[in-house]
Amino acid sequence: MYCRVIVDIVHENVAKPFTYLIPEGMTLTEGQRVSVPFGAREKEGIVTEVTETCDVAPEKLRSVSCPLEDYAAVPPELMALAEEMAIRAHCPMAETLRLMMPAQMRGGRVRAKTLCTAQLAVAESEARAAMDADRRKGKRFQLLELLISGEAMTVRELAEKVRDPRDALKKLAQDGLIRMSEEEMLRTPEGAFSDTGDPGYELTAGQQEALEEIMPSLQGKGGRFLLHGVTGSGKTEVFMKAVRETLTLGKCAIILVPEIALTPQMVSWFRGRFGTAAAVIHSRLSAGERYDEWRRIRRGEARVVIGARSAVFSPVEKLGLIVVDEEHESTYLNDRHPQYDTRDVAASRCRRENATLILASATPSILSFARARRGDYVLLEMPKRVNDRPLPEVEIADMRKELESGNRTVLSNALRAALKECAGKGDQAILLMNRRGYNSFVSCRSCGYVVKCPNCDISMTYHLGDTDGKLRCHYCGKETPPPAVCPECGGHYIRYFGAGTQKVEEEVRKLLPGVPTVRMDYDTTGTKDGHGKILEEFRSGRARILIGTQMIAKGLDFPQVTLVGVVAADLALNLPDYRSRERAFQLFTQVAGRAGRGRQSGRVIIQTYLPNDPVIGFAARQDYRAFFESEFRRRRNGLYPPFTVLARLLIESSREEAAVRAAENLEEKVRGMTAAHPEWQRKLLTLLKDTPSVKYLKSKHRRHILIKALVSSETDEFFGALTEIAAEGAEGAEIFFEVNPTTMM
Ligand code: ADP
Ligand code: ZN
Repeated sequence: MYCRVIVDIVHENVAKPFTYLIPEGMTLTEGQRVSVPFGAREKEGIVTEVTETCDVAPEKLRSVSCPLEDYAAVPPELMALAEEMAIRAHCPMAETLRLMMPAQMRGGRVRAKTLCTAQLAVAESEARAAMDADRRKGKRFQLLELLISGEAMTVRELAEKVRDPRDALKKLAQDGLIRMSEEEMLRTPEGAFSDTGDPGYELTAGQQEALEEIMPSLQGKGGRFLLHGVTGSGKTEVFMKAVRETLTLGKCAIILVPEIALTPQMVSWFRGRFGTAAAVIHSRLSAGERYDEWRRIRRGEARVVIGARSAVFSPVEKLGLIVVDEEHESTYLNDRHPQYDTRDVAASRCRRENATLILASATPSILSFARARRGDYVLLEMPKRVNDRPLPEVEIADMRKELESGNRTVLSNALRAALKECAGKGDQAILLMNRRGYNSFVSCRSCGYVVKCPNCDISMTYHLGDTDGKLRCHYCGKETPPPAVCPECGGHYIRYFGAGTQKVEEEVRKLLPGVPTVRMDYDTTGTKDGHGKILEEFRSGRARILIGTQMIAKGLDFPQVTLVGVVAADLALNLPDYRSRERAFQLFTQVAGRAGRGRQSGRVIIQTYLPNDPVIGFAARQDYRAFFESEFRRRRNGLYPPFTVLARLLIESSREEAAVRAAENLEEKVRGMTAAHPEWQRKLLTLLKDTPSVKYLKSKHRRHILIKALVSSETDEFFGALTEIAAEGAEGAEIFFEVNPTTMM
């Protein structure tokens, strides 16, 4: 017998299966991992096919050395999915196959019961000082960077990012900067549970109607639904009932959430109801835990999987249901290689396995709602909150008038009064400020100089510290002390402008002394379970006011919250991206939806300098339909996705001339290519060499070539050709081809 094997090397030259002989006495199946001789080395690979004959000359044929497990790590449905994704993303199948199993499984040793881990042994500041002093920026620097959060990482995880890290780790440990330890791995992450069989709430009429539409598809050949339910309409309960039915029918379910750390309530609801039948996959699982959860799923012990986007590849057998909750979130797009949209992968998997797909949101993406309207999904609407609770009242605070009347603070008089009233009643409030730090930039009054990061073309943000303040780059993390005099003109009038979460927190504390507040942003959630601790402070009622960036807008259900303030709506509206209106509407509506979920009704105040902007109006009325119609029309008229597809070739180089030259050559190549293909040319609307809005990032000079094209049957072929061009690379520069990237900066 023979088999075809995809060897685990991502390179164009080996992007095809190789044939091997199966030695006498060995049996293999499709999807099984094997060790095979490849060149002078042993490599891991995955069997794609077992055949009785082969057309390779016997003297050229080599034998499979051994299977790595005695079962197929990648079940047949996922093999087919990996193949389809490789074609769609124009990449070798070895790359998409890597998505189908825990990264730590590759290379083998994840089985070991003890794992060697490394952890920072000094304060973060000391580690940063060591990094700053390290002029070579070699392995030691990179390792410290990976460990800087203070979280332990296994040597295997580190070895995936830094080649052969062991010697460098030993030296760091000798210098006392890190601690190495052998750790016993827990076999189950959170102790024993069992399915509680809890039937849950009695459904409201809206929930009942939605579920009745979904039920037949679960029992039959699957279906596709878009569940559009306003905030607080009880979408989760609909999923849980659908999952219960799926389990009863002997099938499995996958529940996808934007980010596990931000949805602790969802996880505990599922845990409470399905016990150990539910596996939770999150980024904070150790290698061993992740491997064990994966095996529990593979063996069929866990039949409900909850996780972020990568959980869509869970090896469940008899898939019955995939739910994509908060389907509008951009975390569902994987921008890194291989590029994929989780919603499309889920749809493809469901189609292949006759399963049901439910996309759910209070603010569906324009793309999904347009598809539902076209009939690709069955649209299910839940326009009412549970128990007839009203949607919150939304008011707009005109910040121009505040300024006129002499109020120069970040809080309008209306919001100040509302906060006082809310705190006086003992209720809770949420304030959204979509920028972290204290001041957003620092500039010289005399010459206009703005302090920028030395590694990035981005102004630095001022952060308060425990003792003194620092300027910090939000892209590369670089920190510097704020300048006392202007480095440009020597002037003494250095001023601080713009506000962030720290400033809002300070204002609130001044306004309401003694009322406990918590702040949730990237800076306060870096430690292990940082999100969980902050949310618990708030949930328990110890903290009365939660201030945070967009991470507080998602799916949280706190019945005591009666007031929500959007402190600076314009930050979200003014971003130079065709999706900024969509994202702003989603953000305002979602955060507004956190108010009035309990017995008390809710109140929302949106602060803006653009009170007449239609998006603010739609959000204030929480009128999704009207927003959709207006945005859909705008996209059609402006030829934006979904009517077209946007892509770019991004060029990065440490030398500016190299980036410029590569961009010129690349543009010429692409022009030559489209000239040779009139069918591509006809659909091409834009082909433009340009400098991105951030022309220098993480010490790399950047240029890009923007491409806008009408969607057609040739798009795939055209993009395949562009992928190849990108893969060829350029002298002294790296090229990335991105289709509809989440950001074009
Ligand atoms: P959504 O995700 O639609 O914003 P949730 O699923 O978070 O809403 O539900 C809102 C709240 O309503 C939750 O506290 C949930 O426990 C509660 N809830 C859901 N369904 C019912 C029901 N049928 N009866 C009573 N309470 C319910
Ligand atoms: Zn920077």
